[in-house]
Amino acid sequence: MRKLTSIFFLILLTRLFAFSPDSIRTICESSLGGRDGAVLLADAHSGEILAAVGSPDILSGERFFPPGSVFKIVSALAALEMGISPAEKVRCTYWYNAPGGRMHCSWYPGHGIVDIRRALAVSCSFYFYHLVDEGVSPDKIRYIASLLGFDESPAKNIPPVRWQKLNTLNAPYMFAIGLRGIEVSPYHILRMMLAVANRGFSKSDYSSIYDGVENISRDSWDVVCDGLRMATTEGIVKSAAPNGIPAAGKTGTAPLLDNPDVTCGWFAGYIPYDSPDYVLVVLVADGSGFSDAAPIAGRIFLKIYRQDLSEPHIKNANFDEIWKQTSD
Ligand SMILES: [Zn+2]
Repeated sequence: MRKLTSIFFLILLTRLFAFSPDSIRTICESSLGGRDGAVLLADAHSGEILAAVGSPDILSGERFFPPGSVFKIVSALAALEMGISPAEKVRCTYWYNAPGGRMHCSWYPGHGIVDIRRALAVSCSFYFYHLVDEGVSPDKIRYIASLLGFDESPAKNIPPVRWQKLNTLNAPYMFAIGLRGIEVSPYHILRMMLAVANRGFSKSDYSSIYDGVENISRDSWDVVCDGLRMATTEGIVKSAAPNGIPAAGKTGTAPLLDNPDVTCGWFAGYIPYDSPDYVLVVLVADGSGFSDAAPIAGRIFLKIYRQDLSEPHIKNANFDEIWKQTSD
């Protein structure tokens, strides 16, 4: 009987401490696996940062990175807010004739017919070049970026994003896909994703920062969130959502502005899709979003699902099914 009681208390203790901030930190740290980069995990409801691990100079805001295709979220919101229809379709044929010379998409021989949701899901750069010619100018994109808090300090001691001059003919097209004109800290991307996960609403400690996002319409958020969900179900971010975990997110890969031979890789997203509990940003300083950051995100999401039995949202999200598949 005594033995049974101690087993009972052991189980109770394990349950109580199963998801302390320390274990979240350990999950993030082990998933990053000692790579040069950073992982930030936040509570989607409160905005509280539950884990910030990785290279000290990235976490302290000394090193910034181009956001790459993660910035397509900002460009997409700018397009939707200026009235580009989510139904508008474009045929991606890989090469795009821009004023400063032809540019190419990320996928050869092109993505075929895409609308804005699909463009986010498959990360079609051609679609975003087309938006620039439709009038989605760098100024309009920067306006949305400022609503999302990019011009403010996103966390203690972290400066606002760095904007650079767009001084070539094709620079506005590169800007729309996050390859030129902007360098960010993972904290900026985390704050943007907190706004996206909450579709503009936030009851968090960050609510003062979020004043601006009220200016973005619910319809625009919904379209962007659809695209980020499609990215993990049928797009290029499947590895961030192993075993059918209901994640949404976006990857990005960008050559460093001062060392173009090296690319950084991003993932930014949230779980569960319908009612987000966690927002995650993964940055790998030397790697790609598709093959490095997204799989790291997938490992973190999987471990959260395996441990966090107490969250009612996750319980509702077909948890039994997921549990069966992941308890190998
Ligand atoms: Zn394309």
